[in-house]
Amino acid sequence: MELKNKTVIVTGAGRGIGKAIALDCARAGGHIVVTARSAREIQAVAGQIRKAGGRALGLALDLSNPNNITSLLKETVKAFKSVDILINNAGYASWHKPFLDETAEEWDKTFGINLRSAFLLSKECFALMKKKRSGYIVNISSTVVLGPPATMTAYSASKAGLAAMSQSLHENAKQYGVRVSTVYPGITDTKMVRDLKPSTKPPVWMQPQDISDCVMFLLRTSKRMIIKDLVPWSFQHDRV
Ligand code: NDP
Repeated sequence: MELKNKTVIVTGAGRGIGKAIALDCARAGGHIVVTARSAREIQAVAGQIRKAGGRALGLALDLSNPNNITSLLKETVKAFKSVDILINNAGYASWHKPFLDETAEEWDKTFGINLRSAFLLSKECFALMKKKRSGYIVNISSTVVLGPPATMTAYSASKAGLAAMSQSLHENAKQYGVRVSTVYPGITDTKMVRDLKPSTKPPVWMQPQDISDCVMFLLRTSKRMIIKDLVPWSFQHDRV
């Protein structure tokens, strides 16, 4: 079991891509901390891991509140001593809106979760990993950064910021044996996308399991190497 006794934090793990990653990390032997705002969803995922014989801590937290980042780290260290792997997956996308209809409130909400929370959580985890000279941080960006649509400006900008933060963190972290990768998923069949595109037929979209397979592939690579960027496109549908 590749992740035996490794502590893994997965944000936004109540459903969709984060849930698939959390369950796969648990199957690989990791001790999993799952977090999102919905207590019902997060406790269901933690319960599923425990029922299968794994160890899991479920924390219902709004990560756009910086105090909750501190609580998340405190509870993780209390339960599992340290952090070996961080998956910054929690994210929010506002409705498709033309540029002139995007509001400052929506911009702040989007950046608060998609970028600021990932930055603050990465800082806390990198500080722990640096001391151990080992660790892995994976940031879930999006293919929107490679060609932002006319709508979703705040979302696209936040995901571009996340990718830049991730690349800069990699440059800081590599000298300490801490690996950092950015994953840019294309369109994937989750609640986020179904809410954005309620009328679209989804059969050609990727599934959350496909993105989790990519993350597990990264986590399983040799410590001698780093795949800095991974771009899984939906084969037949490449636009959000
Ligand atoms: P979902 O909406 O299914 O999952 C998003 C997760 O993030 C949920 O668990 C949600 O839980 C959590 N979350 C949202 N806001 C907050 C918050 N303020 N605090 C804590 N947790 C929060 O979407 P996906 O699985 O599709 O998205 C996962 C990631 O993948 C996101 O970062 C998204 O941008 C990215 N992505 C998705 C793509 C797609 O096509 N689906 C394509 C490219 C990237 P809750 O609401 O309970 O807080």
